[in-house]
Amino acid sequence: MSAVRKPSSSAVSNAISRGVAAVADLLLPRRCISCGTVVEGEGALCASCWPDVRFLSQPHCAACGFPFEFDHGADALCAACYRDIPLYERARAVFRYDDASRQALLAFKHSDRTDVAPAFAGMMAQAGRELLAEADLIVPVPLHKRRLLARRYNQSALLALALSKIAGVIAAPDLLERTRATPSQGGLGAKARERNVAGAFAVRPKRKPQLAERRVLLIDDVLTTGATVSACTKTLLRGGARAVDVLTLARVVRPAQE
Ligand SMILES: [Zn+2]
Ligand SMILES: [Zn+2]
Repeated sequence: MSAVRKPSSSAVSNAISRGVAAVADLLLPRRCISCGTVVEGEGALCASCWPDVRFLSQPHCAACGFPFEFDHGADALCAACYRDIPLYERARAVFRYDDASRQALLAFKHSDRTDVAPAFAGMMAQAGRELLAEADLIVPVPLHKRRLLARRYNQSALLALALSKIAGVIAAPDLLERTRATPSQGGLGAKARERNVAGAFAVRPKRKPQLAERRVLLIDDVLTTGATVSACTKTLLRGGARAVDVLTLARVVRPAQE
């Protein structure tokens, strides 16, 4: 006689809460992630918040994606990359990090607005289509496990998984780990940010074979000075990756960079 294993009570309650969440998704109207107005369809932002968001497009720095006012040619670098070429090959972002996009990003990060991940990932698939076309593996910037517990989800991992579904490129959400809990980067200058995240990341040993000779697309929500993605890139290249590109939802644009 075959034994039928009874599901554990925690498995049952997990399944129930998943079911409740799925039903709630169907019943609750979707709200604009920036202002809270009810929106039609799958979008993340309402019609009045859209025009305020400043989308990034060409011409831009061939390396870091810094937007140029004039076209300097496809291989042109910004002053910062010319001085100090990044370890990653190309970084691209969907929109500017400014007053218009800040609220949306904070809500996505801290307010359980995980429902907008597919809409944001759709925009990233557009902005990063050249990068995705060559990527072997999508890897998110990890959170330290203590911060993950407090926040319950890693917004960059959600973007990576949604992007993987759209683009058909494998995602490895647990390939990198944050081995050191670093203080928040907020309010720190470029050099301090670099020191803050130096040596904070590692490739999980069991994931190492998956990384060998792969072209990685690294995912984060915001690119500020690039210190975090540079530290992750260094770790990925040391771990055997062939090359690393970076795709973020938003990017800080400082006028001084050009
Ligand atoms: Zn709105
Ligand atoms: Zn640049």
